[in-house]
Amino acid sequence: MMYLLASRQNDGKKLNPRRDVPSYPKYTLSQETIEALKKPTFDVWHWEHNEMLSCLEYMYHDLGLVKEFNMNPITLKRWLLGIQENYRSNPFHNFRHCFCVSQMMYGMINLCNLPEKMTLTDMGILMTAAVCHDLDHPGYNNTYQINARTELAVRYNDISPLENHHCAVAFQILSLPECNIFANVELEAYKQIRQAIITLILATDMARHGEILDSFKHKVDSFDFTNEEHVTCLKMVLIKCCDISNEVRPTEVAEPWVDCLLEEYFMQSDREKTEGLPVAPFMDRDKVTKPTAQIGFIKFVLIPMFETVMKLFPQIEEIMVQPLRDSRDHYEELKQIDDAMTEVGHLFSLNITLSLVNQIPIPIFPS
Ligand code: 5GP
Ligand code: MN
Repeated sequence: MMYLLASRQNDGKKLNPRRDVPSYPKYTLSQETIEALKKPTFDVWHWEHNEMLSCLEYMYHDLGLVKEFNMNPITLKRWLLGIQENYRSNPFHNFRHCFCVSQMMYGMINLCNLPEKMTLTDMGILMTAAVCHDLDHPGYNNTYQINARTELAVRYNDISPLENHHCAVAFQILSLPECNIFANVELEAYKQIRQAIITLILATDMARHGEILDSFKHKVDSFDFTNEEHVTCLKMVLIKCCDISNEVRPTEVAEPWVDCLLEEYFMQSDREKTEGLPVAPFMDRDKVTKPTAQIGFIKFVLIPMFETVMKLFPQIEEIMVQPLRDSRDHYEELKQIDDAMTEVGHLFSLNITLSLVNQIPIPIFPS
């Protein structure tokens, strides 16, 4: 049944859902799924869109957000449909990535017992920012937007063009009465929620990683849950953790995401080459491999950030930090194999060349 018409405007936006809620109420979650949903071991590849929608809907009910914000449950379903339809089918920045980030947020809220330390409004802000954080991502990063002088870069004056766009689309969806999950929230509370969601989505720009982590490091040793600035900073770090948390997941779940990310990177670098734009080495198909992409990212970005959060929530060590260390070791082993293969391959091809050109016997390991 479809009674909401798709509104795909000329610029590719499709704000309100093409299909309405009756298309997915048959998706009920088993007790086993409900248990698994709270853990980083959850298999995010196992589910189709409708099932992920049901999971997200469940999280809002389970956290008490539907009650807290007096949401119409049908509006929640319709809002989620609107969200799903405004993620594009990029290799990486798609609705499944949105689901991963939101599910990890739900997991961290539970693991760190956040509802005991922060307000339900904070939980609503964290979850909603996670759900919305990459809306309408075009598959090409801020550097491309700025260098190619795209419409987005011009609109946002090169200042986090993508994150500004994700956030603007989020509030365009919420401005549709049939999708506004905060319709029954009082004006002052809505203003606070809106401001906080904007702050969190803008914090996902990795260009600000150092700045945000440094600010959190200054607070963490004397962290005060009654200090609003401290709590805002923690929420920024939490959404950042969830955003880049694939490597916290088991290898079988995490590894396919690297292929997705590289596919998107290569699409960008190929386009940059044809358009004569600068190409970042980490996106260049001639320079990057899975292990080289992951080792530095895990060692210098993920582990330092999660170990800082661990000072506040020691329980994340076993569940989140240890898998990161294991993954780093796994990719370092893979890299050694790669290096050995390349070395042998290199020597082998050198030997072949020498043997053909000079008609000399093939030395096994020439000095
Ligand atoms: P997002 O674009 O998803 O909001 O921000 C996260 C960014 O961090 C991604 O675009 C990507 O550049 C980087 N990132 C996230 N996860 C990984 C990962 O597992 N490996 C590497 N190398 N980069 C990642
Ligand atoms: Mn993201």
